[in-house]
Amino acid sequence: MIKKRGIAILGSTGSIGTQALEVIEAYPERFDLQVITAGKNADLLIKQALKFKPNMVVLGDESQLKAVKEALWKEDIHVYGGEEALCQVVQSTNVDLVLTALVGYAGLKPTIAAIEARKDIALANKETLVVAGQLIMNLARTYNVNIYPVDSEHSAIFQCLPGEGGNAIEKIYLTASGGPFRGYSLEQLATVTKAQALKHPNWSMGAKITIDSASMMNKGLEVIEAHWLFNLKASQIDVIVHPQSIVHSLVQFKDGSIKAQLGLPDMKLPIQYALTYPERLPTEFPRFDFAQYPQLTFEKPDFGTFTNLKLSFQALEKGGNIPCALNAANEVAVQAFIEDKISFLQIAEINGLTMERVSFVANPDLTSLVETNSMARRFAEEAISF
Ligand code: NAD
Ligand code: MG
Repeated sequence: MIKKRGIAILGSTGSIGTQALEVIEAYPERFDLQVITAGKNADLLIKQALKFKPNMVVLGDESQLKAVKEALWKEDIHVYGGEEALCQVVQSTNVDLVLTALVGYAGLKPTIAAIEARKDIALANKETLVVAGQLIMNLARTYNVNIYPVDSEHSAIFQCLPGEGGNAIEKIYLTASGGPFRGYSLEQLATVTKAQALKHPNWSMGAKITIDSASMMNKGLEVIEAHWLFNLKASQIDVIVHPQSIVHSLVQFKDGSIKAQLGLPDMKLPIQYALTYPERLPTEFPRFDFAQYPQLTFEKPDFGTFTNLKLSFQALEKGGNIPCALNAANEVAVQAFIEDKISFLQIAEINGLTMERVSFVANPDLTSLVETNSMARRFAEEAISF
């Protein structure tokens, strides 16, 4: 009998988190769900806890903690609140693998805590690698921890690698749907609304990543994520717009061969692969039908209009704490856009200004990244209220 893998899901109430629970539910003999956590959604967290009976739950928002405790006290489920608790629960002895499915910079410290406790990571929270790629990869090496990508593009690349032996990667192509504003000019982008930006053509995801997809920032973050995950130079990473989102990404090897991974856009497969690696388990997910997609098309991204993409490559080239600054600015700007405080084009503008203002640190440690994050947030706030 195979030993069940002990799983912690950080952000179980979100888009990735709820789909991960579906995967876990489909294979009860494989997984032992130990921990689930949420930021604010106490009601859903309670429902999930009553259904899956994890050992521990954490709610970030402590004002609702009492309700969760009351709902779960009979169940022998430990209930904790606040940020610190996230770092503690991931270190529990019965956890083997931590799925980081929370949004943004908030994922950094719990991911570090999990690696230090030698837990493998299924990484959805790409922002953590953007903020602290060097630090995270060094820690993973030191503690002999595997980081399995959940992001569909990175999972696609990861799925292309087995069997290649010494045939190293020459370059990769990250595919991008182009989002709801593909083909728009700067003039057209100037007046787009939040409602338009929140309507992704192919994927249903959390609000932050949906806005990032519309602004191409998501692809920019993914370029930096790929750099760290696969140890590639910026010049080995290309972005190609593929509106159908069927080819999830491609790898070109040193012998000139190109491999791609294809499928309907559904995050459950990459989530499942990260949770079961190196095994692949059969699924009942809907299958791709060629007749429904007579054409798969590819085009170059428009770097001049979607400047976030350009900024991301620049941040990657500059290195050090600059990607951290870009990420922080973007988190603040996206939130401000969601709150109707700024226009769509101002997101990239604020990102660019903030990146310029932050003082450069070549080899930032955690303290320095924490400082960069707060400083960049302050600069971005100032740019918004200007
Ligand atoms: P989401 O907004 O749907 O869910 C986020 C989850 O994290 C929720 O459970 C929320 O309660 C929790 N959370 C949010 N902020 C928190 C905080 N400060 N502290 C503690 N918990 C917090 O987001 P999502 O779309 O599931 O995305 C999660 C991560 O996965 C992001 O980094 C995103 O870029 C990445 N990702 C998502 C998708 C997708 O299809 N949704 C695809 C690829 C990568
Ligand atoms: Mg992706």
